[in-house]
Amino acid sequence: MKRIKIAIVGLGKIARDQHVPTLAANDAFELVAVASPHSKLEGVPSYSNIEDLLQAVPDLSAVALCTTPQVRCEAARHALVQGRHVLLEKPPGATVSEVLALVEIASQKSVALFASWHSRHARAVEPARAWLADREIRRVTVTWKEDVRIWHPGQTWIWKAGGLGVFDPGINALSILTRIIPGTLTLKDAKLSYPSNCKTPIAARLLLADSRGVPAHVELDFLQTGPQTWDIEVETDAGRLLLSMGGTILKINDSFVATAQETEYSSLYAHFATLIRARQIDVDLAPFRLATDALLYGQRLGVEPFVE
Ligand code: NAP
Repeated sequence: MKRIKIAIVGLGKIARDQHVPTLAANDAFELVAVASPHSKLEGVPSYSNIEDLLQAVPDLSAVALCTTPQVRCEAARHALVQGRHVLLEKPPGATVSEVLALVEIASQKSVALFASWHSRHARAVEPARAWLADREIRRVTVTWKEDVRIWHPGQTWIWKAGGLGVFDPGINALSILTRIIPGTLTLKDAKLSYPSNCKTPIAARLLLADSRGVPAHVELDFLQTGPQTWDIEVETDAGRLLLSMGGTILKINDSFVATAQETEYSSLYAHFATLIRARQIDVDLAPFRLATDALLYGQRLGVEPFVE
């Protein structure tokens, strides 16, 4: 089958860590160019913006948008209007409305649009979902605590409007949760800690409920030193499920469950290839809606300034 000519837009940490090596190992795609204001990829034609990229590579089929979230939808709009298939890194944009506008354009142009949630492709997520499908859920606890200074050095965009703050990693937890818990989760309460010099929160406590009113307590912290935690625990009528390390390790009643070895990004790109061949849209805003609900509804607590 003909390989899909793809370009990466936004050559930062996630593009270099995951997108570039995953595309190099994937026969369905051919990385033909990148576009990034200041960064270049050795051996691949590099442009400083998406407009120049689209003009210079007329046979380009698809773009993967790995930019900061604040500029993602505008870049996506350019690509979609010109009939290119689009993969959006998470979160899909800076606002819900701008993402919905993209869905409209993709649908008019009959091209694929994929709002990707990489954590949903972590290897233990689907086995967890399958196990929970037949269980009565009694309580959910999410603990997502990491050190922003280790994982996001110099990423000042996180603290600006649309940067999501602690929801930048926290939305990964919400993406898994909305995948494995049946029905619709709704926000009941939120407390958000805002450093006095930031537009986005550095910590958050959420209370969610599933469609039967079962509570899900979510604790997000960006100032965790020492052990880092990315856990989801679900108590059920058949015992306790623990999904740890961001969806990669599954324990049921304290016993490890074996899972497939495929990496998150190879699974993510396999799905994108399928969407492209079928010219389909996959935009699930459930994780983003919970984050934006919390930012809309949550009580704001002031905390000391964040200094990196
Ligand atoms: P990053 O290292 O700060 O990279 C962001 C990149 O966006 C920069 O390299 C910058 O390019 C580029 N950029 C900014 N404005 C642009 C524009 N107008 N057009 C094209 N490119 C532009 O951030 P990151 O960690 O890679 O995160 C990027 C996105 O991926 C975020 O939404 C994040 O949530 C998501 N993500 C990150 C991780 C992770 O582990 N870091 C994991 C999964 C998903 P220049 O360098 O050329 O200025």
